[in-house]
Amino acid sequence: MRPLSSTRTPTCESQIDVKPFTVRLRFHGDLDFFVRSKTRSRIVERSLSEKTSVKDVIESCGVPHPEVDVVVVDGQSVGFDHTVAAEAEVEIFSAENRGTLNTEKHLQVSDISRFVADGHLGTLARTLRLLGFDVVYDQRADDRHLLEVMARQSRALLTRDRRLLMHTVVQHGYCPRSQNAEEQTIEVVRRFNLLNLIAPFTRCLRCNALLEDVTKSDIIDDLEPLTKIHYQQFRRCAGCSQIYWGGSHFQKLQKRITNIQLRLARKDDN
Ligand SMILES: [Zn+2]
Repeated sequence: MRPLSSTRTPTCESQIDVKPFTVRLRFHGDLDFFVRSKTRSRIVERSLSEKTSVKDVIESCGVPHPEVDVVVVDGQSVGFDHTVAAEAEVEIFSAENRGTLNTEKHLQVSDISRFVADGHLGTLARTLRLLGFDVVYDQRADDRHLLEVMARQSRALLTRDRRLLMHTVVQHGYCPRSQNAEEQTIEVVRRFNLLNLIAPFTRCLRCNALLEDVTKSDIIDDLEPLTKIHYQQFRRCAGCSQIYWGGSHFQKLQKRITNIQLRLARKDDN
């Protein structure tokens, strides 16, 4: 696999043809998360001396392409491969702006519900699993493995590593803005429009496999004495055989789910 350091693809012949020019980029919505760390402004000027794809110009400002849903160059909605070869005004919108823009040309999809999370997002992965979502997570996974799983299984990549998100093979992905797992979960549910797909307690928090109903008699030998007495309903993971029941830990998880759902229901809660 080639290095992750750059996705830029300048063309040699353009160096002869094109005089230096300036591109002015304005980043809308939550994309200022990426830009402001560099400039304290939503507007960035780039001086170019060769034809460059609009995708490369945007990423040179620190904004990974999976975060960009609409690009408008001099009033025209374009794709990532659009070439900038002269002075231009570029407006860049994230998926957050979807619904407010009158354009057919969206560069992201919003209906992905399967993910692979990088090794730093363990709590986010488990919280998404708690809500029923299919999230591959392995704390030891390296970048190569993450990208392989993402591509082979058509998953969206969740990572706070912007360089990784900029890799050319990444089609769909998201960089959680918050460092808090509950807020990250809310961000992901909103970004990928998952609210109506939430199905709590259907997936194993440990291994991501689906849970299945199991009768108490089938697992009674695996239960602690007090659990045997106080609980009647159980579920078992089809993958790792972990048994789940409505104990005190369950109450804490239920409270977490309720809190997330309440916050999701409040549209102005950012
Ligand atoms: Zn399991």
